[in-house]
Amino acid sequence: MFENLSERLGGVFDRLTKAGALSAEDVTAALREVRVALLEADVSLPVARDFVKRVQGKATGAAVTKSVTPGQQVVKIVHDELIATLRGDEDPGKLKIDNPPAPILMVGLQGSGKTTTTAKLARRLKEREHKRVLMASLDTNRPAAMEQLAILGGQIGVDTLPIVKGESAVQIARRAKSQATMGGYDVYLLDTAGRLHIDEVLMDEVQAVRDAVSPRETLLVVDGLTGQDAVNVATEFEGKVGITGVVLTRMDGDGRGGAALSMRAVTGKPIRFVGLGEKTDALETFEAERVAGRILGMGDIVALVEKAQQTLEAEQAERMMKRFQKGQFNMNDLKSQLEQMLKMGGMQSVMGMMPGMAKMSKQAEAAGFDDTMLKRQIALIQSMTKKERANPALLQASRKKRIAAGAGLEVSELNKLLKMQRQMADVMKKMGKGGMLKQAMKSMF
Ligand code: GDP
Repeated sequence: MFENLSERLGGVFDRLTKAGALSAEDVTAALREVRVALLEADVSLPVARDFVKRVQGKATGAAVTKSVTPGQQVVKIVHDELIATLRGDEDPGKLKIDNPPAPILMVGLQGSGKTTTTAKLARRLKEREHKRVLMASLDTNRPAAMEQLAILGGQIGVDTLPIVKGESAVQIARRAKSQATMGGYDVYLLDTAGRLHIDEVLMDEVQAVRDAVSPRETLLVVDGLTGQDAVNVATEFEGKVGITGVVLTRMDGDGRGGAALSMRAVTGKPIRFVGLGEKTDALETFEAERVAGRILGMGDIVALVEKAQQTLEAEQAERMMKRFQKGQFNMNDLKSQLEQMLKMGGMQSVMGMMPGMAKMSKQAEAAGFDDTMLKRQIALIQSMTKKERANPALLQASRKKRIAAGAGLEVSELNKLLKMQRQMADVMKKMGKGGMLKQAMKSMF
């Protein structure tokens, strides 16, 4: 899936990653191509425009570092933004089906793959979640569709509601509900009738069914190959019936994939599953990372992005180290160290990792140095002004009083903190000379 978009973006990024340095014009030009690629992949114009604008904003503001190529940076930003656009808040594969029997309404146009998807979902719920599932077809206009569901049910070993001629869709839905309740089913799937195009009669019927059973989930099944049309269908169904998620079918075909991006952006509803074939096991949970990777079409995109991230962190660490070697270790540095320690499981474990600190670590232990203390020290630093943090030498009696009061602590505690900062600056400087600092920092970052 997503070949066209992949190739397009692949080409753009090939050029980007090869370029040594990237000017603002280059970023603009590259993003123009990203936009064209998105449009060609059937992403709707407003979605593509909005997407590129967000990427541009982030790319322009991003720190430029010497060892990550600008191309890699743009790739990372586009990649992250794709994921952010594609991902819903909730786990896509987790349907709300507690409180049995839970009704799930399957809606969509005729030919979208709705009946097949109903069976695929039933199979998934039965096999993976060990649910007792009942399926019912509400397609009163097409007896063949009802038969089709019954046949699929037979194949996957899932019960279907017996077909009774002459019933309306709402009547069938009510019967499914009582059958599911009496029969002890966990879930019942209602495969509503589809039409070739959206029309009032169809929408009225789906609304009536919805009101009769109050579905826990209403899943819209759309053909992933129909691109822009799929987005219109989704907008209609969301407006008239209300949906809780989308299933994109035929994603095994050579679809342009833009539907996934637009669908998510336009309806705001999560894409739950993708259909990857005609068989009843060809249904997968929608994965934003994988889809973003495929859209970008660079197999090693994740590795590339991670490398870029690591390089960035290593550079930050190096800059920090250079300052420490000169004895520049201010309150901001101490604060980030203290926060790091909290994150890494306390003072002792971190100090123990740094060769020069082993002795101090023992002293700290003896002095009852724990996480509460770390938090109090961070509070003290937070109550300092920017200037004071950068230059702790400014702290005379009146400032000290103000800071201690601000953190709700005693001046004596602040004095201890200042002593610690001076000691650490000193140790860092000494370690820097012997090359030990480098070693210590390597173990930390
Ligand atoms: P409905 O009219 O919406 O109920 O559509 P059907 O479930 O009858 O599906 C229409 C056709 O699409 C059938 O031939 C299905 O086998 C096929 N189909 C459904 N889902 C997929 C899919 O994910 N991939 C492929 N390749 N074919 C699918």
